[in-house]
Amino acid sequence: MGREDNLRRRAWQGVVIEYYDFISVNNEKLKLPPVSLQEGNTPLIESVSLVKELKEFGFSGKIYFKHEGLNPTSSFKDRGMAVAVTRARDSNAQAIICASTGNTSASASAYGARAKIPVIIVVPEKGVTIGKLVQAIAHGAVMIRVKGNFDSALQLARKVAEDFSLFIVNSINPWRIEGQKTASLEICDALGFAPDYHFIPVGNAGNIYSYWIGYKQYKEIGRIDMLPKMYGFQAEGAAPIVKGHPISDPQTIASAIRIGNPANWERAILAKEESEGIIDTVSDDEILKAYKFMGEKEGIFCELSSAASVAGLIKMVKKKSTQKDAVVVCTLTGHGLKDPQAVIDFIPPKEAIIEPSFKAIKNLIQEIIPQKIEKSQSSALQET
Ligand SMILES: *Cc1c(COP(=O)(O)O)cnc(C)c1O
Repeated sequence: MGREDNLRRRAWQGVVIEYYDFISVNNEKLKLPPVSLQEGNTPLIESVSLVKELKEFGFSGKIYFKHEGLNPTSSFKDRGMAVAVTRARDSNAQAIICASTGNTSASASAYGARAKIPVIIVVPEKGVTIGKLVQAIAHGAVMIRVKGNFDSALQLARKVAEDFSLFIVNSINPWRIEGQKTASLEICDALGFAPDYHFIPVGNAGNIYSYWIGYKQYKEIGRIDMLPKMYGFQAEGAAPIVKGHPISDPQTIASAIRIGNPANWERAILAKEESEGIIDTVSDDEILKAYKFMGEKEGIFCELSSAASVAGLIKMVKKKSTQKDAVVVCTLTGHGLKDPQAVIDFIPPKEAIIEPSFKAIKNLIQEIIPQKIEKSQSSALQET
């Protein structure tokens, strides 16, 4: 075998190939090679700061962040999209369609481009973040902007997909769920066991269910002994599952979970009940605090929606609703760069405008770190 073969075999090949034996809907076999951008294999990063903060509230366990923002289009949607678009190409689909708060459309656009299948995305006219919109544009998708919210966009996409036999890649598509469950398989492969608790944001609720069936699959084959409790979090103003009824005008700063009538509602309940977990709310204020904390104290820039899992963990530890010495995983669903406006709106920069003179910058730096300046000055003097 040549050098290139060896290199190729060591490289991560994307979720369809890496978890080929675990991904299945009715045991359908693939005719063509998978459509892949080498999604998955995202880091499971151990907390250094949050874990310390939470000690104060009696928590003595470990916290890991599954950073799904490091997928090819910067959200977890790529896992499911790789499988769904692989199936779309295999079944000769004419076009792919999806409704989206932004990330599904970004991912569908990229994988559609890769598979050379036209992509139609149906998005709310307002509220899709700039980072997500430009991804769809860059990948050449056709964008239909609906004067309404995500729920009305999904309703339209489902209807038109049916009428025109288009391949719909929302999480009602079983292939999406199959792909997304690979994140929980990766977590078990990395830890060697399942966490005690899995914290995750809940929007259309496909992901919480995906993780759950992944964990269950590994338990069935004996790869893990114990299943985690699934702890899902909705934003207070967009919490249909917690409130027990659809919300007609969902409101939250976290646009990826601004959903009032989740398509996978029953499945989320199932994951919660089977795992003896919970689905609860976090306020926009709690989301924002967690979002800032992640950036400033953990060095991880995630989406506002992603911070809902961290906010949920903080809330539960403060309420003493988690075991003290637990191993916890929080899914960070998307990258912070998806929504630059959120930073501009919510985090005041630490900045100064100065004249282009050494004196000006020296005075400023001296104000910020006076001791260090003195020290370096004296050592400079000693050398001469
Ligand atoms: C899609 C998405 C969610 C919500 O996931 P669901 O499967 O719809 O519950 C949360 N955060 C981000 C960043 C997303 O892209």
